Amino acid sequence: MKTPVLIVGAGPTGLILALWLTRLGVAVRIIDKNADAGKESRAIGIQAHTLEQYQQIGLAEEIIKNGIKADMLTIRKNGDKTFSLPLIDMGKGLSPFPFFLFLPQDEHEKILIEHLRHAGVNIERNTELQTFTQKKKHVEVTLKSERGLETIDFAYLCGCDGARSTIRNRLNIKFPGGTYSQIFYVADVMARRGDYTNHNLQICVSQKDFCLVLPVRSTGSLRLIGIVPEERENKDAITFEDVLPSLSNNTDIKVESLNWFSTYHVHHRVANHFRLNHVFLMGDAAHIHSPAGAQGMNTGIGDAINLAWKIAAVLKDNASTSLLDTYEIERKTFANQLVETTDKLFQIMTDKGLLGKCWRGFIFPYLLPLLFRLPSIRRFFFKLTSQIKINYRQSALSKGHANTLYGGDRLPWVKYETTDNFSSLKSMNWQIHIYGEASETFAIDIKNLNLELHIFPWNKQAENAGLEKDAIYLIRPDGYISYIDNHQDIQKLETFYNALNLKME
Ligand SMILES: Cc1cc2nc3c(=O)[nH]c(=O)nc-3n(C[C@H](O)[C@H](O)[C@H](O)COP(=O)(O)OP(=O)(O)OC[C@H]3O[C@@H](n4cnc5c(N)ncnc54)[C@H](O)[C@@H]3O)c2cc1C
Repeated sequence: MKTPVLIVGAGPTGLILALWLTRLGVAVRIIDKNADAGKESRAIGIQAHTLEQYQQIGLAEEIIKNGIKADMLTIRKNGDKTFSLPLIDMGKGLSPFPFFLFLPQDEHEKILIEHLRHAGVNIERNTELQTFTQKKKHVEVTLKSERGLETIDFAYLCGCDGARSTIRNRLNIKFPGGTYSQIFYVADVMARRGDYTNHNLQICVSQKDFCLVLPVRSTGSLRLIGIVPEERENKDAITFEDVLPSLSNNTDIKVESLNWFSTYHVHHRVANHFRLNHVFLMGDAAHIHSPAGAQGMNTGIGDAINLAWKIAAVLKDNASTSLLDTYEIERKTFANQLVETTDKLFQIMTDKGLLGKCWRGFIFPYLLPLLFRLPSIRRFFFKLTSQIKINYRQSALSKGHANTLYGGDRLPWVKYETTDNFSSLKSMNWQIHIYGEASETFAIDIKNLNLELHIFPWNKQAENAGLEKDAIYLIRPDGYISYIDNHQDIQKLETFYNALNLKME
Protein backbone atom coordinates (compact mmCIF):
# COMPACT_ATOMS: atom_id res chain seq x y z
CA MET A 1 0.00 0.00 0.00
CA LYS A 2 1.67 3.19 -1.21
CA THR A 3 -0.31 5.43 1.10
CA PRO A 4 -1.43 3.64 4.24
CA VAL A 5 -3.73 6.29 5.76
CA LEU A 6 -6.69 8.16 4.29
CA ILE A 7 -7.88 11.20 6.25
CA VAL A 8 -11.38 12.35 5.37
CA GLY A 9 -11.95 15.98 6.31
CA ALA A 10 -9.51 18.89 6.30
CA GLY A 11 -10.84 20.72 9.35
CA PRO A 12 -8.48 21.27 12.29
CA THR A 13 -8.71 17.60 13.38
CA GLY A 14 -7.81 16.17 9.97
CA LEU A 15 -5.07 18.74 9.38
CA ILE A 16 -3.33 18.00 12.69
CA LEU A 17 -3.64 14.26 12.16
CA ALA A 18 -1.99 14.69 8.75
CA LEU A 19 0.78 16.86 10.21
CA TRP A 20 1.59 14.49 13.07
CA LEU A 21 1.52 11.38 10.87
CA THR A 22 3.71 13.05 8.27
CA ARG A 23 6.19 14.11 10.92
CA LEU A 24 6.27 10.52 12.15
CA GLY A 25 7.12 9.33 8.64
CA VAL A 26 3.69 7.98 7.66
CA ALA A 27 2.41 8.81 4.16
CA VAL A 28 -1.16 10.14 4.12
CA ARG A 29 -3.81 11.32 1.70
CA ILE A 30 -6.15 13.98 3.00
CA ILE A 31 -9.37 14.81 1.16
CA ASP A 32 -12.18 17.32 1.62
CA LYS A 33 -15.42 17.60 -0.28
CA ASN A 34 -15.31 21.40 -0.13
CA ALA A 35 -13.56 23.42 -2.83
CA ASP A 36 -11.82 25.70 -0.31
CA ALA A 37 -10.84 25.93 3.32
CA GLY A 38 -13.43 27.51 5.67
CA LYS A 39 -13.46 31.31 5.77
CA GLU A 40 -15.20 31.77 9.11
CA SER A 41 -13.72 32.42 12.53
CA ARG A 42 -15.74 29.57 14.22
CA ALA A 43 -13.62 28.01 17.03
CA ILE A 44 -11.24 30.70 18.25
CA GLY A 45 -9.83 29.49 21.59
CA ILE A 46 -6.55 27.57 21.50
CA GLN A 47 -5.78 25.95 24.83
CA ALA A 48 -2.35 25.70 26.49
CA HIS A 49 -2.24 21.92 26.15
CA THR A 50 -2.83 22.18 22.41
CA LEU A 51 0.08 24.65 22.22
CA GLU A 52 2.27 22.26 24.22
CA GLN A 53 1.60 19.52 21.67
CA TYR A 54 2.02 22.00 18.80
CA GLN A 55 5.45 22.82 20.21
CA GLN A 56 6.47 19.21 19.60
CA ILE A 57 6.10 19.76 15.84
CA GLY A 58 7.38 23.34 15.78
CA LEU A 59 3.98 25.03 15.35
CA ALA A 60 3.39 26.83 18.64
CA GLU A 61 5.46 29.94 17.97
CA GLU A 62 3.73 30.80 14.70
CA ILE A 63 0.26 30.19 16.12
CA ILE A 64 1.01 32.45 19.10
CA LYS A 65 2.50 35.14 16.89
CA ASN A 66 -0.71 35.29 14.87
CA GLY A 67 -3.10 35.01 17.81
CA ILE A 68 -4.27 37.31 20.59
CA LYS A 69 -3.45 36.63 24.24
CA ALA A 70 -6.41 37.53 26.43
CA ASP A 71 -5.11 39.99 29.03
CA MET A 72 -8.17 40.55 31.20
CA LEU A 73 -11.39 38.80 32.20
CA THR A 74 -14.30 41.13 32.92
CA ILE A 75 -17.62 40.05 34.34
CA ARG A 76 -20.68 42.25 33.81
CA LYS A 77 -24.17 42.16 35.21
CA ASN A 78 -26.82 44.04 33.21
CA GLY A 79 -23.97 45.76 31.36
CA ASP A 80 -22.19 47.02 34.49
CA LYS A 81 -18.76 45.71 35.37
CA THR A 82 -18.70 43.74 38.62
CA PHE A 83 -15.19 42.37 38.37
CA SER A 84 -11.94 42.35 36.36
CA LEU A 85 -9.12 39.85 36.65
CA PRO A 86 -5.75 39.87 34.84
CA LEU A 87 -5.51 36.72 32.73
CA ILE A 88 -1.94 36.93 31.46
CA ASP A 89 0.16 34.38 33.35
CA MET A 90 -2.93 32.75 34.85
CA GLY A 91 -1.19 29.39 34.51
CA LYS A 92 2.27 30.60 35.53
CA GLY A 93 4.50 27.66 36.43
CA LEU A 94 1.99 25.14 35.06
CA SER A 95 2.69 25.43 31.35
CA PRO A 96 5.13 27.22 29.04
CA PHE A 97 1.92 28.77 27.64
CA PRO A 98 0.23 30.17 30.76
CA PHE A 99 -2.33 32.28 28.86
CA PHE A 100 -5.59 32.01 26.88
CA LEU A 101 -4.99 32.42 23.16
CA PHE A 102 -7.50 33.40 20.49
CA LEU A 103 -7.00 32.80 16.80
CA PRO A 104 -9.85 32.51 14.27
CA GLN A 105 -10.29 29.00 12.89
CA ASP A 106 -9.79 30.11 9.27
CA GLU A 107 -6.43 31.76 10.09
CA HIS A 108 -5.45 28.77 12.24
CA GLU A 109 -6.28 26.31 9.44
CA LYS A 110 -4.33 28.42 6.94
CA ILE A 111 -1.16 27.99 9.04
CA LEU A 112 -1.72 24.23 9.35
CA ILE A 113 -2.31 23.91 5.59
CA GLU A 114 0.90 25.82 4.88
CA HIS A 115 2.90 23.55 7.22
CA LEU A 116 1.41 20.51 5.50
CA ARG A 117 2.30 21.92 2.08
CA HIS A 118 5.90 22.35 3.27
CA ALA A 119 5.85 18.72 4.34
CA GLY A 120 4.81 17.80 0.80
CA VAL A 121 1.13 17.07 1.49
CA ASN A 122 -1.57 18.82 -0.52
CA ILE A 123 -5.22 18.59 0.41
CA GLU A 124 -7.27 16.93 -2.33
CA ARG A 125 -10.28 19.24 -2.53
CA ASN A 126 -13.62 18.63 -4.27
CA THR A 127 -13.01 15.02 -3.30
CA GLU A 128 -15.63 13.14 -1.37
CA LEU A 129 -15.64 9.81 0.39
CA GLN A 130 -18.52 7.91 -1.22
CA THR A 131 -18.36 4.51 0.38
CA PHE A 132 -16.00 2.02 2.02
CA THR A 133 -15.83 -1.67 2.90
CA GLN A 134 -13.82 -3.14 5.73
CA LYS A 135 -11.69 -6.11 4.63
CA LYS A 136 -9.67 -8.43 6.86
CA LYS A 137 -6.45 -6.42 6.76
CA HIS A 138 -7.42 -3.13 5.16
CA VAL A 139 -10.29 -0.92 4.12
CA GLU A 140 -11.41 -0.45 0.54
CA VAL A 141 -12.54 3.10 -0.12
CA THR A 142 -14.34 4.71 -3.06
CA LEU A 143 -13.67 8.39 -3.64
CA LYS A 144 -15.51 10.73 -5.97
CA SER A 145 -13.75 13.73 -7.49
CA GLU A 146 -13.62 15.72 -10.73
CA ARG A 147 -11.58 12.81 -12.11
CA GLY A 148 -14.48 10.42 -11.46
CA LEU A 149 -14.64 7.46 -9.10
CA GLU A 150 -11.50 5.90 -7.61
CA THR A 151 -11.46 2.72 -5.54
CA ILE A 152 -8.34 2.24 -3.46
CA ASP A 153 -7.13 0.28 -0.41
CA PHE A 154 -5.83 1.86 2.78
CA ALA A 155 -4.57 0.33 6.01
CA TYR A 156 -6.58 2.89 8.00
CA LEU A 157 -9.43 5.29 7.32
CA CYS A 158 -9.72 8.29 9.65
CA GLY A 159 -13.09 10.00 9.90
CA CYS A 160 -12.39 13.67 10.63
CA ASP A 161 -15.52 14.53 8.67
CA GLY A 162 -17.35 16.69 11.17
CA ALA A 163 -20.58 16.48 13.11
CA ARG A 164 -22.61 14.99 10.25
CA SER A 165 -19.93 12.35 9.62
CA THR A 166 -20.66 10.08 6.65
CA ILE A 167 -18.19 7.59 8.09
CA ARG A 168 -19.96 7.41 11.46
CA ASN A 169 -23.29 6.96 9.71
CA ARG A 170 -21.99 4.23 7.39
CA LEU A 171 -20.52 2.37 10.35
CA ASN A 172 -23.96 2.58 12.00
CA ILE A 173 -22.34 4.00 15.10
CA LYS A 174 -24.93 5.75 17.22
CA PHE A 175 -24.41 9.36 18.30
CA PRO A 176 -26.51 9.56 21.45
CA GLY A 177 -27.13 12.77 23.36
CA GLY A 178 -29.43 15.65 22.71
CA THR A 179 -29.99 19.06 21.21
CA TYR A 180 -30.60 22.17 23.29
CA SER A 181 -33.85 23.94 22.57
CA GLN A 182 -32.14 27.35 22.64
CA ILE A 183 -30.65 28.83 19.49
CA PHE A 184 -27.08 30.10 19.74
CA TYR A 185 -25.79 33.04 17.77
CA VAL A 186 -22.22 33.96 16.86
CA ALA A 187 -21.27 37.33 15.42
CA ASP A 188 -17.98 38.94 14.51
CA VAL A 189 -18.27 42.71 14.73
CA MET A 190 -16.22 45.85 14.66
CA ALA A 191 -17.27 47.88 17.67
CA ARG A 192 -16.57 50.93 19.74
CA ARG A 193 -15.58 49.65 23.13
CA GLY A 194 -16.38 50.95 26.54
CA ASP A 195 -13.67 50.70 29.15
CA TYR A 196 -11.86 47.65 27.90
CA THR A 197 -9.11 46.78 25.48
CA ASN A 198 -9.11 44.69 22.36
CA HIS A 199 -7.66 41.79 24.36
CA ASN A 200 -10.36 41.64 26.97
CA LEU A 201 -12.52 38.54 27.49
CA GLN A 202 -15.96 39.35 28.87
CA ILE A 203 -18.72 37.28 30.39
CA CYS A 204 -21.93 39.27 30.59
CA VAL A 205 -24.95 38.02 32.51
CA SER A 206 -28.41 39.30 33.32
CA GLN A 207 -31.43 37.76 35.03
CA LYS A 208 -32.66 36.64 31.62
CA ASP A 209 -29.64 35.57 29.58
CA PHE A 210 -25.88 35.81 29.03
CA CYS A 211 -23.35 36.57 26.32
CA LEU A 212 -19.60 36.31 25.79
CA VAL A 213 -17.40 38.97 24.18
CA LEU A 214 -14.02 37.75 22.96
CA PRO A 215 -11.17 39.23 20.94
CA VAL A 216 -11.19 37.49 17.59
CA ARG A 217 -8.95 39.04 14.94
CA SER A 218 -5.78 41.09 15.13
CA THR A 219 -7.68 43.63 12.99
CA GLY A 220 -9.66 44.42 16.15
CA SER A 221 -12.94 42.63 15.54
CA LEU A 222 -14.83 41.11 18.44
CA ARG A 223 -16.64 37.77 18.70
CA LEU A 224 -20.04 37.79 20.35
CA ILE A 225 -21.66 34.54 21.45
CA GLY A 226 -25.06 34.31 23.08
CA ILE A 227 -28.53 32.88 22.96
CA VAL A 228 -31.25 34.22 20.68
CA PRO A 229 -34.02 35.75 22.86
CA GLU A 230 -36.96 33.38 23.23
CA GLU A 231 -39.41 35.78 21.61
CA ARG A 232 -37.29 35.82 18.39
CA GLU A 233 -36.59 32.06 18.26
CA ASN A 234 -39.46 31.20 15.93
CA LYS A 235 -38.66 33.73 13.22
CA ASP A 236 -37.86 32.34 9.77
CA ALA A 237 -34.59 34.19 9.41
CA ILE A 238 -33.02 35.44 12.62
CA THR A 239 -30.86 38.51 12.04
CA PHE A 240 -28.32 40.40 14.07
CA GLU A 241 -30.98 43.03 14.83
CA ASP A 242 -32.89 40.34 16.77
CA VAL A 243 -30.06 39.95 19.27
CA LEU A 244 -29.03 43.62 19.48
CA PRO A 245 -31.38 44.57 22.37
CA SER A 246 -29.97 41.73 24.50
CA LEU A 247 -26.42 42.80 23.57
CA SER A 248 -27.10 46.41 24.47
CA ASN A 249 -28.48 45.33 27.82
CA ASN A 250 -25.61 42.99 28.64
CA THR A 251 -22.53 44.79 27.29
CA ASP A 252 -21.35 48.33 26.75
CA ILE A 253 -20.02 47.88 23.23
CA LYS A 254 -21.43 49.93 20.36
CA VAL A 255 -21.45 47.82 17.20
CA GLU A 256 -20.19 49.72 14.15
CA SER A 257 -20.22 46.98 11.53
CA LEU A 258 -21.04 43.31 11.27
CA ASN A 259 -18.56 40.93 9.61
CA TRP A 260 -20.30 37.60 10.20
CA PHE A 261 -23.48 36.40 11.84
CA SER A 262 -24.70 32.86 12.21
CA THR A 263 -27.21 30.99 14.34
CA TYR A 264 -27.18 27.33 15.17
CA HIS A 265 -28.56 24.67 17.46
CA VAL A 266 -26.04 23.20 19.86
CA HIS A 267 -25.90 19.45 20.36
CA HIS A 268 -24.27 17.43 23.09
CA ARG A 269 -23.42 14.00 21.78
CA VAL A 270 -20.67 11.37 22.01
CA ALA A 271 -20.39 8.52 19.48
CA ASN A 272 -20.83 5.02 20.96
CA HIS A 273 -17.53 3.95 19.41
CA PHE A 274 -14.49 5.84 18.18
CA ARG A 275 -13.11 2.84 16.27
CA LEU A 276 -14.37 -0.10 14.28
CA ASN A 277 -11.53 -2.30 12.95
CA HIS A 278 -9.55 -0.17 10.49
CA VAL A 279 -11.75 2.91 10.75
CA PHE A 280 -11.51 5.68 13.36
CA LEU A 281 -13.69 8.64 14.30
CA MET A 282 -12.35 11.84 15.80
CA GLY A 283 -13.11 15.51 16.32
CA ASP A 284 -16.69 16.64 15.76
CA ALA A 285 -17.41 13.29 14.07
CA ALA A 286 -16.96 11.67 17.50
CA HIS A 287 -18.20 14.33 19.96
CA ILE A 288 -19.96 17.67 19.95
CA HIS A 289 -21.05 20.00 22.73
CA SER A 290 -21.65 23.61 23.68
CA PRO A 291 -18.92 25.95 22.35
CA ALA A 292 -18.75 27.80 25.67
CA GLY A 293 -15.37 27.00 27.19
CA ALA A 294 -13.59 26.64 23.83
CA GLN A 295 -12.99 22.93 24.24
CA GLY A 296 -14.45 21.32 21.09
CA MET A 297 -11.80 22.00 18.49
CA ASN A 298 -9.01 21.45 21.03
CA THR A 299 -10.48 18.06 21.91
CA GLY A 300 -10.53 17.07 18.23
CA ILE A 301 -6.89 18.08 17.93
CA GLY A 302 -6.14 16.01 21.06
CA ASP A 303 -7.86 12.98 19.48
CA ALA A 304 -5.73 13.35 16.36
CA ILE A 305 -2.46 13.50 18.31
CA ASN A 306 -3.47 10.58 20.53
CA LEU A 307 -4.10 8.40 17.49
CA ALA A 308 -1.28 9.58 15.20
CA TRP A 309 1.65 8.10 17.10
CA LYS A 310 -0.24 4.85 17.69
CA ILE A 311 -0.98 4.37 13.98
CA ALA A 312 2.67 5.23 13.20
CA ALA A 313 3.95 2.68 15.74
CA VAL A 314 1.73 -0.09 14.36
CA LEU A 315 2.61 0.67 10.72
CA LYS A 316 6.33 0.62 11.59
CA ASP A 317 5.88 -2.73 13.40
CA ASN A 318 6.84 -1.15 16.71
CA ALA A 319 3.57 -2.18 18.32
CA SER A 320 0.83 -4.72 17.86
CA THR A 321 -2.57 -3.55 16.65
CA SER A 322 -3.88 -3.80 20.23
CA LEU A 323 -2.19 -0.41 20.81
CA LEU A 324 -4.96 1.07 18.66
CA ASP A 325 -7.59 -0.17 21.17
CA THR A 326 -6.28 2.37 23.67
CA TYR A 327 -7.40 5.27 21.42
CA GLU A 328 -11.09 4.79 22.13
CA ILE A 329 -10.62 4.06 25.83
CA GLU A 330 -8.49 7.15 26.37
CA ARG A 331 -10.34 9.67 24.23
CA LYS A 332 -13.94 8.55 24.70
CA THR A 333 -13.58 8.71 28.48
CA PHE A 334 -12.43 12.31 28.19
CA ALA A 335 -15.12 13.22 25.63
CA ASN A 336 -17.82 11.81 27.95
CA GLN A 337 -16.49 13.82 30.90
CA LEU A 338 -16.28 16.97 28.80
CA VAL A 339 -19.78 16.69 27.38
CA GLU A 340 -21.15 16.02 30.87
CA THR A 341 -19.39 19.07 32.35
CA THR A 342 -20.26 21.49 29.55
CA ASP A 343 -23.84 20.21 29.61
CA LYS A 344 -24.15 20.87 33.35
CA LEU A 345 -22.67 24.34 32.96
CA PHE A 346 -24.97 25.12 30.05
CA GLN A 347 -28.05 23.89 31.96
CA ILE A 348 -27.18 26.10 34.92
CA MET A 349 -26.45 29.17 32.81
CA THR A 350 -29.70 28.88 30.85
CA ASP A 351 -31.98 27.64 33.63
CA LYS A 352 -35.11 29.77 33.84
CA GLY A 353 -35.89 28.78 37.44
CA LEU A 354 -34.44 29.89 40.74
CA LEU A 355 -31.13 28.07 40.21
CA GLY A 356 -30.39 29.93 36.96
CA LYS A 357 -31.48 33.27 38.39
CA CYS A 358 -29.27 32.69 41.43
CA TRP A 359 -26.28 31.83 39.21
CA ARG A 360 -26.69 34.72 36.81
CA GLY A 361 -27.84 37.20 39.44
CA PHE A 362 -25.43 36.45 42.28
CA ILE A 363 -22.99 33.53 42.04
CA PHE A 364 -21.49 34.44 38.68
CA PRO A 365 -21.20 38.23 39.00
CA TYR A 366 -20.36 38.43 42.73
CA LEU A 367 -19.33 35.13 44.35
CA LEU A 368 -17.06 33.71 41.63
CA PRO A 369 -15.04 36.95 41.43
CA LEU A 370 -14.36 36.67 45.16
CA LEU A 371 -13.24 33.07 44.77
CA PHE A 372 -11.03 34.06 41.84
CA ARG A 373 -8.97 36.17 44.19
CA LEU A 374 -7.58 32.91 45.61
CA PRO A 375 -4.49 31.71 43.67
CA SER A 376 -5.52 28.06 44.20
CA ILE A 377 -8.89 28.68 42.50
CA ARG A 378 -7.21 30.49 39.60
CA ARG A 379 -4.80 27.58 39.14
CA PHE A 380 -7.66 25.09 39.31
CA PHE A 381 -9.57 27.08 36.66
CA PHE A 382 -6.52 27.23 34.39
CA LYS A 383 -5.85 23.50 34.77
CA LEU A 384 -9.45 22.71 33.89
CA THR A 385 -9.86 24.94 30.86
CA SER A 386 -6.36 24.54 29.40
CA GLN A 387 -6.82 20.73 29.12
CA ILE A 388 -3.56 20.08 31.02
CA LYS A 389 -5.58 18.04 33.53
CA ILE A 390 -6.58 15.40 30.97
CA ASN A 391 -5.26 12.01 32.05
CA TYR A 392 -5.36 8.45 30.76
CA ARG A 393 -4.98 6.70 34.10
CA GLN A 394 -7.53 4.04 33.12
CA SER A 395 -5.59 3.05 29.98
CA ALA A 396 -3.69 -0.22 29.53
CA LEU A 397 -0.67 1.98 28.71
CA SER A 398 -0.64 3.50 32.19
CA LYS A 399 1.02 2.04 35.27
CA GLY A 400 2.69 3.15 38.47
CA HIS A 401 2.50 6.00 40.91
CA ALA A 402 4.97 8.19 42.79
CA ASN A 403 4.37 11.33 44.81
CA THR A 404 1.19 12.87 43.32
CA LEU A 405 1.58 11.59 39.75
CA TYR A 406 0.16 8.42 38.18
CA GLY A 407 0.89 6.61 34.95
CA GLY A 408 -1.50 8.23 32.43
CA ASP A 409 -0.98 11.81 33.66
CA ARG A 410 0.34 14.55 31.40
CA LEU A 411 4.05 15.08 32.04
CA PRO A 412 4.15 18.22 34.21
CA TRP A 413 6.21 21.11 32.98
CA VAL A 414 9.51 21.87 34.71
CA LYS A 415 11.47 24.96 33.78
CA TYR A 416 15.22 25.35 34.06
CA GLU A 417 17.35 28.44 33.49
CA THR A 418 17.91 27.95 29.76
CA THR A 419 15.65 25.03 28.89
CA ASP A 420 12.75 22.92 30.16
CA ASN A 421 11.74 19.26 30.32
CA PHE A 422 9.37 19.64 27.33
CA SER A 423 12.18 20.31 24.85
CA SER A 424 13.02 16.58 24.69
CA LEU A 425 9.44 15.83 23.56
CA LYS A 426 10.25 17.31 20.14
CA SER A 427 11.81 13.94 19.19
CA MET A 428 8.28 12.43 19.37
CA ASN A 429 9.89 9.24 20.69
CA TRP A 430 9.27 7.11 23.73
CA GLN A 431 11.74 8.33 26.35
CA ILE A 432 12.79 7.92 29.95
CA HIS A 433 12.92 10.94 32.24
CA ILE A 434 14.73 11.02 35.53
CA TYR A 435 14.66 14.07 37.78
CA GLY A 436 17.79 13.66 39.86
CA GLU A 437 20.39 11.03 39.04
CA ALA A 438 20.47 7.81 37.04
CA SER A 439 22.50 4.89 38.37
CA GLU A 440 25.38 3.90 36.13
CA THR A 441 23.93 0.45 35.39
CA PHE A 442 20.47 1.82 34.59
CA ALA A 443 21.95 4.34 32.14
CA ILE A 444 23.87 1.56 30.35
CA ASP A 445 20.82 -0.73 30.26
CA ILE A 446 18.64 2.02 28.77
CA LYS A 447 21.25 2.72 26.11
CA ASN A 448 21.28 -0.97 25.21
CA LEU A 449 17.51 -0.84 24.85
CA ASN A 450 17.84 2.03 22.35
CA LEU A 451 15.63 4.18 24.52
CA GLU A 452 16.20 7.95 24.92
CA LEU A 453 17.27 8.84 28.46
CA HIS A 454 16.85 12.43 29.67
CA ILE A 455 18.21 13.35 33.08
CA PHE A 456 17.02 16.65 34.54
CA PRO A 457 18.29 18.33 37.71
CA TRP A 458 16.09 17.89 40.75
CA ASN A 459 14.65 21.23 41.87
CA LYS A 460 11.79 22.79 43.81
CA GLN A 461 9.60 23.10 40.74
CA ALA A 462 9.99 19.39 39.96
CA GLU A 463 8.94 18.60 43.52
CA ASN A 464 5.97 21.01 43.36
CA ALA A 465 4.92 19.46 40.07
CA GLY A 466 4.50 16.12 41.88
CA LEU A 467 7.60 14.41 40.51
CA GLU A 468 9.73 12.10 42.64
CA LYS A 469 13.50 12.39 42.89
CA ASP A 470 15.37 9.63 40.98
CA ALA A 471 12.16 7.82 39.98
CA ILE A 472 11.87 6.69 36.35
CA TYR A 473 9.17 8.09 34.10
CA LEU A 474 8.48 6.41 30.78
CA ILE A 475 7.06 9.12 28.53
CA ARG A 476 4.89 8.43 25.47
CA PRO A 477 5.47 10.21 22.14
CA ASP A 478 2.50 12.52 22.94
CA GLY A 479 3.99 13.72 26.24
CA TYR A 480 1.92 11.58 28.62
CA ILE A 481 3.53 9.51 31.36
CA SER A 482 3.05 5.82 30.66
CA TYR A 483 4.93 4.19 33.50
CA ILE A 484 6.39 5.32 36.82
CA ASP A 485 8.72 3.40 39.08
CA ASN A 486 10.33 4.67 42.28
CA HIS A 487 13.21 2.29 41.63
CA GLN A 488 15.41 2.28 38.58
CA ASP A 489 14.52 -1.30 37.79
CA ILE A 490 15.18 -2.14 34.15
CA GLN A 491 13.61 -5.57 34.36
CA LYS A 492 10.28 -4.28 35.63
CA LEU A 493 10.32 -1.64 32.89
CA GLU A 494 11.01 -4.26 30.20
CA THR A 495 8.30 -6.54 31.57
CA PHE A 496 5.85 -3.62 31.40
CA TYR A 497 6.37 -2.76 27.80
CA ASN A 498 6.95 -6.30 26.58
CA ALA A 499 3.51 -7.14 27.95
CA LEU A 500 2.14 -4.38 25.76
CA ASN A 501 4.08 -5.64 22.71
CA LEU A 502 5.79 -2.27 22.36
CA LYS A 503 9.14 -1.60 20.77
CA MET A 504 10.62 1.70 21.89
CA GLU A 505 12.12 3.32 18.84
C1 LIG B 1 -21.13 28.41 13.07
C2 LIG B 1 -20.15 27.67 13.95
C3 LIG B 1 -19.56 28.35 15.01
C4 LIG B 1 -18.71 27.67 15.84
N1 LIG B 1 -18.16 28.34 16.88
C5 LIG B 1 -17.34 27.69 17.71
C6 LIG B 1 -16.77 28.35 18.82
O1 LIG B 1 -17.02 29.54 19.05
N2 LIG B 1 -15.93 27.66 19.64
C7 LIG B 1 -15.66 26.30 19.42
O2 LIG B 1 -14.88 25.68 20.17
N3 LIG B 1 -16.18 25.66 18.36
C8 LIG B 1 -17.02 26.31 17.52
N4 LIG B 1 -17.53 25.65 16.48
C9 LIG B 1 -17.17 24.22 16.30
C10 LIG B 1 -15.81 24.05 15.64
O3 LIG B 1 -15.79 24.78 14.44
C11 LIG B 1 -15.57 22.55 15.44
O4 LIG B 1 -15.45 21.95 16.74
C12 LIG B 1 -14.32 22.23 14.64
O5 LIG B 1 -14.37 22.78 13.35
C13 LIG B 1 -14.23 20.71 14.51
O6 LIG B 1 -13.20 20.38 13.66
P1 LIG B 1 -13.21 19.02 12.84
O7 LIG B 1 -11.96 19.06 12.05
O8 LIG B 1 -13.45 17.88 13.75
O9 LIG B 1 -14.49 19.10 11.89
P2 LIG B 1 -14.88 20.19 10.79
O10 LIG B 1 -14.18 21.47 11.03
O11 LIG B 1 -16.35 20.20 10.73
O12 LIG B 1 -14.29 19.58 9.44
C14 LIG B 1 -14.88 18.49 8.79
C15 LIG B 1 -14.47 18.52 7.32
O13 LIG B 1 -14.85 17.28 6.70
C16 LIG B 1 -15.30 17.54 5.39
N5 LIG B 1 -16.16 16.40 4.98
C17 LIG B 1 -17.32 16.00 5.55
N6 LIG B 1 -17.79 14.90 4.95
C18 LIG B 1 -16.92 14.59 3.96
C19 LIG B 1 -16.86 13.55 2.98
N7 LIG B 1 -17.79 12.59 2.90
N8 LIG B 1 -15.81 13.54 2.11
C20 LIG B 1 -14.86 14.50 2.17
N9 LIG B 1 -14.87 15.50 3.09
C21 LIG B 1 -15.88 15.55 3.98
C22 LIG B 1 -16.03 18.87 5.50
O14 LIG B 1 -16.10 19.54 4.26
C23 LIG B 1 -15.16 19.63 6.53
O15 LIG B 1 -14.20 20.45 5.92
C24 LIG B 1 -18.41 26.29 15.62
C25 LIG B 1 -18.98 25.63 14.54
C26 LIG B 1 -19.85 26.31 13.71
C27 LIG B 1 -20.47 25.56 12.55
